[in-house]
Amino acid sequence: MSDTPDSAVHTYTEQHRTAFLDDLASWLRIPSVSAQPEHDGDVRRSAEWLSAKLRETGFPVTEIWDTPGAPAVFAEWPSGDPDAPTVLVYGHHDVQPAAREDGWDTDPFEPVIRDGRMYGRGAADDKGQVFFHTLGVRAHLAATGRTAPAVNLKLLIEGEEESGSPHFRALVEERAARLAADAVIVSDTGMWDENTPTVCTGMRGLAECEIELYGPEQDIHSGSFGGAVPNPATAVARLVAALHDADGRIAIPGFYDGVTELTAAERALFAELPFDEASWLRTARSRSASGEAGYSTLERVWARPTAEVNGIGGGYQGAGSKTIIPSSALVKISFRLVAGQDPDHIQQVVRAWAEARIPAGIRHRITFSPATRPCLTPLDHPALRAVSRAMGRAFGQKILFTREGGSGPAADLQDVLGAPVLFLGISVPSDGWHAPNEKVELDLLFKGVETTAHLWGELAEALR
Ligand SMILES: [Zn+2]
Repeated sequence: MSDTPDSAVHTYTEQHRTAFLDDLASWLRIPSVSAQPEHDGDVRRSAEWLSAKLRETGFPVTEIWDTPGAPAVFAEWPSGDPDAPTVLVYGHHDVQPAAREDGWDTDPFEPVIRDGRMYGRGAADDKGQVFFHTLGVRAHLAATGRTAPAVNLKLLIEGEEESGSPHFRALVEERAARLAADAVIVSDTGMWDENTPTVCTGMRGLAECEIELYGPEQDIHSGSFGGAVPNPATAVARLVAALHDADGRIAIPGFYDGVTELTAAERALFAELPFDEASWLRTARSRSASGEAGYSTLERVWARPTAEVNGIGGGYQGAGSKTIIPSSALVKISFRLVAGQDPDHIQQVVRAWAEARIPAGIRHRITFSPATRPCLTPLDHPALRAVSRAMGRAFGQKILFTREGGSGPAADLQDVLGAPVLFLGISVPSDGWHAPNEKVELDLLFKGVETTAHLWGELAEALR
């Protein structure tokens, strides 16, 4: 049988399996916990380790980019072909805190391989998923006989993701010219499950607000004054009650302006996923599912905007009773946003809606935290089709599509660089991100290697 590129990739990957796993284990031994100042030196050591490894992989340019916090790693490997598109890979080299006494069966920073899995902090989130790119690009070269990748390949691996990426946006803005790309590949997500390879096509955005209402200048007697002055706790409750209509739609005028609706094709593909609502509800620790009428649970979580009350309070909450009209009350609300929604517009409509409903005699303060924008790559985008084809070649299966209900720094790359964001992750829900006994499935890890080995050729054609 002749060596097709696919079998050449597979053979090359198999030949380098042991060395690859040894290297990954060495990296996992560095406890690069960005949240804990005592590990600052380890986070830097992790960046230096990765930079050296990328140099060894063949990247002619590797740099450590300092930020006011933890350092990021940048690497670049030009294609040499003047027509080649440029692709930027994003991941992170910092990890969540971990200690044996949290419930780990083995030392979180002494990785072990058991039952086809590698256990250790960062195995899946995100060192394993960054690392498959190193062997992937070598397999790409070996299988195609090239000396440089088919695309101009760039990597940006940040060191503060697990601490909320406080300096990431500024770093991307400052280095935008070096980071310029035709597409961004984010390898910090997962697939549906072990048997269902999927590509994530977008993440929701997030806008958070706090509404504080002030009534009398201090708590006052509800017998002497009750019924005759406005009560801020009642006013907060009225606001919350008016947030949704009877169909679970958000009743703030203008909230849905610009929303990108699901296409029939996306809905059909979501419906092909082996979704089991009963087991999803067990994970949710909830007795029933509810939400916007006309949408499935997955559609509600992935593709519809939401308004959730995260906290509400005011007045006396102690034992027994205290007959007062409280002087203040507050509610914290978070809005998940979908493609097409603009966080600045959301702030305006929320403010206008709340202010129109606050009764006379109640003062208010409405504050918004910095927002995260939504991102979404349409199913027919050539770069997304290339990712799905590369994954299909590695897995030998039909690739389905998911979205992510949460929000992340990927949107900064989309906004600042003006490039579509694609998500290539091979992690599965059982990998235990942020939890004890985090692991990565070795079979999937090597499927990740093979996917990236196919990806650069596919993207070079798709984006040319
Ligand atoms: Zn991560």
